[in-house]
Amino acid sequence: MEKFGFSMDGELDILADDKPKKEAEAAKKAAPVVKQEKDFIIDKKVRCPVCDKEFPIKAVLATKLKRLEPDFDLRPNYEHVDKCKYDFISCPKCGYSALDTTFSKIDTARVKLIRAEFCPSFKPQQEELQETYSYEYSIEKFKLALICTMKKRAKMSEKAYVCLKIAWLRRAQLKELEGNKDADPKVIEMVKKEYDGFYAQAYEGFMKAISQETPPYCGMASEAVEFMLANMSVYYKKYDAAMKIIARLIQSASTSRKLKDKCLELKEQIVAEQGE
Ligand SMILES: [Zn+2]
Repeated sequence: MEKFGFSMDGELDILADDKPKKEAEAAKKAAPVVKQEKDFIIDKKVRCPVCDKEFPIKAVLATKLKRLEPDFDLRPNYEHVDKCKYDFISCPKCGYSALDTTFSKIDTARVKLIRAEFCPSFKPQQEELQETYSYEYSIEKFKLALICTMKKRAKMSEKAYVCLKIAWLRRAQLKELEGNKDADPKVIEMVKKEYDGFYAQAYEGFMKAISQETPPYCGMASEAVEFMLANMSVYYKKYDAAMKIIARLIQSASTSRKLKDKCLELKEQIVAEQGE
């Protein structure tokens, strides 16, 4: 129907005119206002440092968000919005993509690398910016960002962080799919496989980064990254690696009291898991 200029959405309900209208309107008014993702999304414009074109993006109005308990590996969670979906910027004209925090912070040598090794193969898509981003849409862009980190010879921490964001998105998507009884098992399997693959790369990448780079790691404080890695090590049942990181954090003068307490909690968890 769409090619004829008609939308199928609700317009072909032959009983629609028979429904008592006033009743429906009253019900609408009485319903409580439920906040939705789109209520926290704003329009922004960004200039691309590679092709110098300006383009629109969607961004999260972070000040309005209510923080929820993070996941075990510090993945941030917010009420109504999965902010991770908006943590990238991708130029629709030349394809250059990156984490939102690193997009504009690219030096001229790396701009040249992107222009020479990435842009020539990029095929621009005719796609309209949606009101909110879907998981598939964001993950596609994060994958472009990952290719860009390799082409621009980014530090390991930046590559690992992009992998982590993809894994975090796949994890959230998996949760959503598993709660939907109509979800296609093949899709669930693909999402899970990608989650495992990108999560493993993020773990290995960050482990390498903390041994090779000087902090901050892609903008993150070393204590935060190390505590995250301790938790990820526990996830992989690499208890020795976790214990080593925890010992270092507890001994360090720059670790906050609060984080030291969390380290002690994690240590107890490891002892309990190993005793099982
Ligand atoms: Zn561009």
